[in-house]
Amino acid sequence: MTLADKVRSAGVVGAGGAGFPTHVKYQGEMEYVLANGAECEPLLYVDQQLMEYYTDEFLEGLNLIVGELQAKKGIVCLKEKYKDAITNIKDRLIQYDRLDIHLLENYYPAGDEFIMVFDALGRVIPEGGLPLHVGTVVNNIMTIINVARASRGIPVTDRTLTVHGEVNNPLTFSLPIGTTYREAIELAGGSRIPDFALVVGGPMMGSLEEDLDKPITKTTSGLLLLPPDNYLVMRKKESDHTAIRRGRSTCDQCMYCTMYCPRYIIGHQLQPHKSAMRAAPYGISDTKLVTSSWLCSECKLCDYFACPLFLSPGKIHGMMKKEMGEAGVGNTLNRDQNPEPRPYADTRRVPIQRLVHRLQLTDYMEKAPLVDVDYVPDRVKIPLIQHIGAPAVPLVKPGQRVERGDLIGEIPEGKLGARIHASISGIVAEVSDCIVIER
Ligand code: SF4
Ligand code: SF4
Repeated sequence: MTLADKVRSAGVVGAGGAGFPTHVKYQGEMEYVLANGAECEPLLYVDQQLMEYYTDEFLEGLNLIVGELQAKKGIVCLKEKYKDAITNIKDRLIQYDRLDIHLLENYYPAGDEFIMVFDALGRVIPEGGLPLHVGTVVNNIMTIINVARASRGIPVTDRTLTVHGEVNNPLTFSLPIGTTYREAIELAGGSRIPDFALVVGGPMMGSLEEDLDKPITKTTSGLLLLPPDNYLVMRKKESDHTAIRRGRSTCDQCMYCTMYCPRYIIGHQLQPHKSAMRAAPYGISDTKLVTSSWLCSECKLCDYFACPLFLSPGKIHGMMKKEMGEAGVGNTLNRDQNPEPRPYADTRRVPIQRLVHRLQLTDYMEKAPLVDVDYVPDRVKIPLIQHIGAPAVPLVKPGQRVERGDLIGEIPEGKLGARIHASISGIVAEVSDCIVIER
């Protein structure tokens, strides 16, 4: 059985993003494997602590991937401020011929894989391309640890996440997939304010969520409780209609959004002051301009940091992408071209401190330490889709007994997807778009 087969079997998906099935990335040969340990979203403390406390398992996983892809090198990319993780990794690198380390400055979005590839290798992923187009695979730290576990036949049943913000005890811990947000918040001491807004994910790319009984999935990196009148919350609450209307009436075409856009900076033809602020609000149908919004990572640096008028080009790009996706309109920009980075590509970076100040998050900068909570919920609700691709096909029926780690959802024949496993032992109570298991 190849490593890719074991990874497929264990249901490993990209834990740092939208959950792309990891086994699909392990095809053919690659020159480099980058371990993405930037964790550039403020207030998240998962990957940096996993590298610090699970160093051996992490490096074992990275080395296995390097071997599988016959790569020249595996490079751990992490911020220079993660001193303890760096010490532990450097102490062990002597054991590995092909592993190395690359230190990143403390900026956002250092963890965007296009930016990380440029920072670590000086290569620009083509427009509409993937890291594999420059001979590289990028994997998140938790994903790599899951790969190491998959190589030993251990499936993905748990997720490590940070619970931070207005909680009594900000913590980072692992929970069985399907545990509710509500339980995770209680484990972090509960809310310290009566009313709060919940952001699922990091403050920049995460989204507001009202339903506390939704489940933690393979991609839930954080839960942030914020006061309802926090700047970030107010910005995230803005409706699509308001974003377009304000863009049309207020944008002065100052170009700050474009000048700070990380994808523009590495040389892509993404200019939000045009695509989001001219094409979308005024209905301009220039195909190249409209479809350039596919190049947007939705990092939201333009929305929450760059724009002096608090407009939302990143959000508008998200709306444009959704509409184009539904209409079957793809990216028209040329994947084969070799973008030329702008002359200031190495220097125009947004330091996290400035970002945190802008986001009104300075009160929440204490570290959320990694602890072992050993929590087994009475009930878990495991979605059949926690990844990019088709939902898993349920393999269990109500009333059936399952043990933790049992396969309960299979990848549909011939489709892109990921397997699902029971995260607790118990009885299957319900099978719909989720599998509910009760202890
Ligand atoms: S930064 Fe704001 S005001 Fe300036 S061009 Fe961009 S969207 Fe318009
Ligand atoms: S969200 Fe804004 S800054 Fe980020 S990639 Fe998109 S256009 Fe650029």
